[in-house]
Amino acid sequence: MGTVTQGGSRQGRTPLIAGNWKMNLDYQQAIALVQKLDWALKDAKHDASSVEVAVFPPFTDLRSVQTLISADKIEFSLGAQDLSVHDSGAYTGEISGQFLKKLDCGYVLIGHSERRQYHDEGDDVVAAKVKAAIKHGLVPVICVGETAEDLETHGASAVPVAQLKTALTDVAAGTEVVVAYEPVWAIGSGQAATPEQAQQVCEKLRAVVAEALGADAAAATRILYGGSVAAGNIAGFMREPDVDGALVGGASLKVDDFAAIIRYQKHVGV
Ligand code: PEP
Repeated sequence: MGTVTQGGSRQGRTPLIAGNWKMNLDYQQAIALVQKLDWALKDAKHDASSVEVAVFPPFTDLRSVQTLISADKIEFSLGAQDLSVHDSGAYTGEISGQFLKKLDCGYVLIGHSERRQYHDEGDDVVAAKVKAAIKHGLVPVICVGETAEDLETHGASAVPVAQLKTALTDVAAGTEVVVAYEPVWAIGSGQAATPEQAQQVCEKLRAVVAEALGADAAAATRILYGGSVAAGNIAGFMREPDVDGALVGGASLKVDDFAAIIRYQKHVGV
């Protein structure tokens, strides 16, 4: 973890800007995007130590992106979009955490709302995947968030707080995790939460991490906001003390937009 404190008081937590490509870009397109993003950041003389950048390509792109990152010494972290709860064996179509680790993945998304919605992943599966990730030395990026209906019925924080509590059940104190607060109604809708709304929930999520993993771990844990993050709104989120970065979907597929999000410290007023 670094020492960045610009834009909110985040006690040495290095901001993390993560791009979730979802089911977009084949391996050739993935290579092109990573190269162009790297050039764009280098052209802009971006200080790579000030913000950690992570990309989450589809499984079939991971080997190509890993090779490019390592050959060209590109300072991006690599993550996968999912993993199996199993280590190996007769689980057709599943991908083990140990395979991801071998590809130099540092992170894995767990519990993204699209997995919860389209693959019926409930809180128990999410908790099992968190354990599988940790077992294989991957940092889980635990996604939580309320639907529009949850928001109306229970308010913003009840569902994400409950989801995170279950996800962290029996996780050892001090374990490194990343939490992504992604209101489902904000994902892909163009209607982001306000920075104040994000802060209110992220503060509560940090308290959940403190209860589960201890105060030191909570102080070190990066909590991201996700949901229609764009170049024009990232600075507002990054001013909030409990928002340590962003999980970006659509805008991470556009080089100029994602580079501008990564360079949020250059935006006016941050
Ligand atoms: C996401 O799916 O994680 C996400 C935040 O998507 P978008 O940025 O497109 O809303």
